[in-house]
Amino acid sequence: MTRTPAPRHIEITPENKCGFCPGSKCCTYITQKIPGPRSMADFDHLLWQLAHRGVQAYRDSDGWYLLITHPCNFLQPDGRCGIYATRPQLCRDYTNDFCEFDQPAEEGFDLYFPDYASLDAYCRQRFRRWDARFG
Ligand code: SF4
Ligand code: SF4
Repeated sequence: MTRTPAPRHIEITPENKCGFCPGSKCCTYITQKIPGPRSMADFDHLLWQLAHRGVQAYRDSDGWYLLITHPCNFLQPDGRCGIYATRPQLCRDYTNDFCEFDQPAEEGFDLYFPDYASLDAYCRQRFRRWDARFG
């Protein structure tokens, strides 16, 4: 069974919202804060990271992050948490009051690089000598 959108006549509340969330979005990735890249070498390193499947990057008001798009091993086919009683603190602290069900996270990013090509294009604009960085 997969989660389906709420019927029009049902009011979405924090209590029932997760039950209607397609794909349980917040359980399908991790983020890791990284030092903000500045030099060509920094961006070249980030480009290497984005060369890997499922690795993205973004910058928001808190800084730069890697976004790794793999679902949690404990996410059940019906969208429930397989270790709910002992789930990590970060999962417990996450509130669905206003979450990705309401607005895609990308809309809060200043910069978003979903793949190698998008970061490479940004670097070409940012650094005139990007292609000459290898000497
Ligand atoms: S907290 Fe939000 S994004 Fe996560 S499962 Fe619930 S509704 Fe979906
Ligand atoms: S441990 Fe449970 S709540 Fe936390 S990410 Fe995994 S499935 Fe989601």
